[in-house]
Amino acid sequence: MPTTDPPRSLNFIEQIIENDNTSGKHDGRVHTRFPPEPNGYLHIGHAKSFCLNFGLAEKYGGKCNLRFDDTNPTKEEEEYVESIQEDVRWLGFDWEDRLLFASDYFEQMYEFAVELVKQGKAYVCDLDAEQTREFRGSLTAPGKDSPYRDRTVEENLDLFTRMRKGEFPDGSRTLRAKIDMASPNVNLRDPVVYRILHATHHRTADAWCIYPMYDWAHGLEDSIERITHSICTLEFENHRPLYDWFLDQLGVYHPQQIEFARLNLTYTVMSKRKLLRLVEQGHVDGWDDPRLPTIGGLRRRGYTPETIREFCDRIGVNKFNSTVEIALLEHCVRADLNKRSPRVMGVLRPLKVVIDNYPEDQIEQLDAVNNPEDPDAGTRQVPFTRELYIERDDFMEDPPKKFFRLTPGREVRLRYAYFVTCVDVVKDEATGEVVELHCTYDPATRGGDSPDGRKVKATIHWVSATQSIPAEIRLYDHLFTKEFPEEAEEGEDFMANLNPASLERLTDCRVEPSLAGAEPGARYQLERQGYFCVDPDSTSESLVLNRTASLRDTWAKIQKAQQNKPKQKQPRRKK
Ligand code: ATP
Ligand code: MG
Repeated sequence: MPTTDPPRSLNFIEQIIENDNTSGKHDGRVHTRFPPEPNGYLHIGHAKSFCLNFGLAEKYGGKCNLRFDDTNPTKEEEEYVESIQEDVRWLGFDWEDRLLFASDYFEQMYEFAVELVKQGKAYVCDLDAEQTREFRGSLTAPGKDSPYRDRTVEENLDLFTRMRKGEFPDGSRTLRAKIDMASPNVNLRDPVVYRILHATHHRTADAWCIYPMYDWAHGLEDSIERITHSICTLEFENHRPLYDWFLDQLGVYHPQQIEFARLNLTYTVMSKRKLLRLVEQGHVDGWDDPRLPTIGGLRRRGYTPETIREFCDRIGVNKFNSTVEIALLEHCVRADLNKRSPRVMGVLRPLKVVIDNYPEDQIEQLDAVNNPEDPDAGTRQVPFTRELYIERDDFMEDPPKKFFRLTPGREVRLRYAYFVTCVDVVKDEATGEVVELHCTYDPATRGGDSPDGRKVKATIHWVSATQSIPAEIRLYDHLFTKEFPEEAEEGEDFMANLNPASLERLTDCRVEPSLAGAEPGARYQLERQGYFCVDPDSTSESLVLNRTASLRDTWAKIQKAQQNKPKQKQPRRKK
């Protein structure tokens, strides 16, 4: 019987690469790049992109560069350069000695621009930003030629040189490619190539006061690095003619741009600009808030690199924009953590239980299985004492019919311990709230086994009141209440759909003593409560756990519903 899944079919990019390898288009080379702009932290959408780029290089024995597309000095910071490297490395990818910066090519890019001017294919334009926009026309109306379009090569060279020298104020002039103001593709209507910006760059400091625009810079970066397949997201599809035009005019090495659909996830937003707003306005606790879809957030939440890679593999690569259910991501993390997480017991909302017939000072060490999914994981000992804590909602004084857990007069199993029967309920006189239970235990049921075939309908978890350790536990819900947060009412935006209850902090939790000294990043399954990860806020005195995922997997249900539906769900289009 086959033990592995059948190999999946090639995605459309792999098909292109295999065809190119057959035809010898790039001499059989595969050289990709991941080109983040260092203006924010990476999110799982970026992971889709870099898993693809590094993955293709790995698969075809090629190379993948990590290249910072740092052409916009006002939004970029060293902090982001560091975090991006950390995140890519954490996911297990290696750029070897190819850590590259677009800013290292500024001189070359300038020389190429001078070349374009000399060819009569670029000119210095004195229209300001607003005029430039007006002249550009619209999707339905052609643009108008700039009055500066016919400057001589000499005049353009002189002005461009002086732009570089810093003789003109910001926004007063641009260098524009001379293509076609009537082109049906707006990107080809004399696009701006350089703008004047007196700003300090995180790497080149004040060496430059003109900066290249994305479309100009990006193709040149790819060409300089001799990238074979330049993979980007679909919104750049109608920039491709411009990408090609620039490289063709210059007659330089010409990579192939290929577009694929970006990743969107339900119940979250995925643009750095929007994530930055959430961070800066304090709606979340920094870029690595466990509710964010950032790599740092997912890491802090307890996701593993393997989960993220598996998820990116499962969603695949295609040409149509769609939104992936966040439940699929959660399904992947559960499947992964189920295999690798040691099981422990912890009580989130403790209710005290006194075992009346248990000796006062006795501490018994009971064997508990570490991971039923992993026979090598062995067992550990959990201390049992007269005073315990159980989960508040595992007891009901006046239960409905289908409640099988603890209630007055009923016997249940304490996991790995004993059968206990509730004999008394102590309440707060003022509020009527249940504050303590009294139970008796049956010593013959040690380990949780029934000696006489007697059955109980529920097994509940517990910790010793005196031997357990305190913990803070943070429970997370989706950051937004809506499946498609961008769908907001008139006059509002995605911020209006923030979930006010996305974080619940439980500060009175108790966990078994084996968690003492657990290091940040350590992962556990708290039996019946989900998968948890030790937060970096933890100290040796106070343990803080993040819930990575509950145990309830909604993916199978969603998948079934989707199979019965003709089409994948899409957000409503804005009119
Ligand atoms: P954002 O829209 O989130 O601000 P960006 O596209 O501006 O992202 P870049 O730093 O330019 O961010 O992106 C680096 C690479 O990651 C690009 O090749 C981009 O196409 C890709 N990328 C960004 N977001 C996604 C996404 N949601 N799915 C797939 N790839 C993405
Ligand atoms: Mg971008």
